[in-house]
Amino acid sequence: MKRPGTTGAATGPRPRPRERASPRFTIALHGGAGVVPRAAMSRAAERDYRAALATALDAGYAVLAAGGTSLDAVSAAVVAMEDSPLFNAGRGAALTAEGTAELDAAIMDGASLRAGGVTLVTTVKNPVLLARLVMEETRHVLLGAHGADALARTHGLETVAPEYFVTGRRVKALERARRGRDREGWLTEADRHGTVGAVALDRHGNLAAATSTGGRTLKMAGRIGDSPIVGAGTYANNTTAAVSCTGEGEYFMRTLAAYSVSALMEYRGLGLAQAARFVLRRRLAPLGGSGGLVAVDRAGRAVSLFTTPGMYRASRAAGGPPVVAIYANDDRKERAA
Ligand code: ASP
Repeated sequence: MKRPGTTGAATGPRPRPRERASPRFTIALHGGAGVVPRAAMSRAAERDYRAALATALDAGYAVLAAGGTSLDAVSAAVVAMEDSPLFNAGRGAALTAEGTAELDAAIMDGASLRAGGVTLVTTVKNPVLLARLVMEETRHVLLGAHGADALARTHGLETVAPEYFVTGRRVKALERARRGRDREGWLTEADRHGTVGAVALDRHGNLAAATSTGGRTLKMAGRIGDSPIVGAGTYANNTTAAVSCTGEGEYFMRTLAAYSVSALMEYRGLGLAQAARFVLRRRLAPLGGSGGLVAVDRAGRAVSLFTTPGMYRASRAAGGPPVVAIYANDDRKERAA
């Protein structure tokens, strides 16, 4: 591990694809830092969450095991969670004050530092795939509203009616939020957070990150969060790490959380876990922000850290067992920040 004072990464060459194939690969993902409190979580619901996380993990891991790219792996994992109504992304997204779903997503390639983000998407079934189109098919990094929907149609991405995204559970959460908006504690952690994301290192040594979200319940129509903003909720750089965040987006934007993790590694020589903990505890928390992140470094070390009571999460390294966890003490490897 590099130490503060060493300058290799800071002055070294720009990140580029590593050519040598390696048996090492890793994927980690999250399904949001706002979990249903343990006491309120039924066995059946917990089983459903764990199964959905395992499905997404398998989708991403299979890509990596077959020698596929980290970009394909994080896309596959995020698509699986966008398609599940359990998570706040794609179907099941948190709703705006107007009762509509406005979706944000981003993806970033750590090898080239290319990135794509989309905001305010209303008809594209899998916003993360649209973000990837922005990265690969346009000159832009961030595309919003009707232009993003139009790009999807041009490239034949699956579109759906806006109602597809709206689930009964999110309608109820919105009603609860409307009723209690003036009261302290009017939203549960589960109502507040959500979002899905994945990070991966592939056999070729390349890192990638992707994040997708419906944002926050009762958000103003037109509000854009941290998830589609490169450096805030999503970042990947082969020199350091791939990071996907979840939590109160405004704080992640103000602290440029995902990029800060990378910068602390590159400029200060911190290790991944140290850098991630610093950002959550010393940057986000003092401003009043809460949430978490998953990240993987170029050696394939993965961390998932959070300041909330739990975070839906899963990870698997090459040849290792799948790890699926929800609460802070679910397993010894995953710790609260
Ligand atoms: N970060 C997301 C946003 O603010 C929400 C979340 O992760 O819960 O849009």
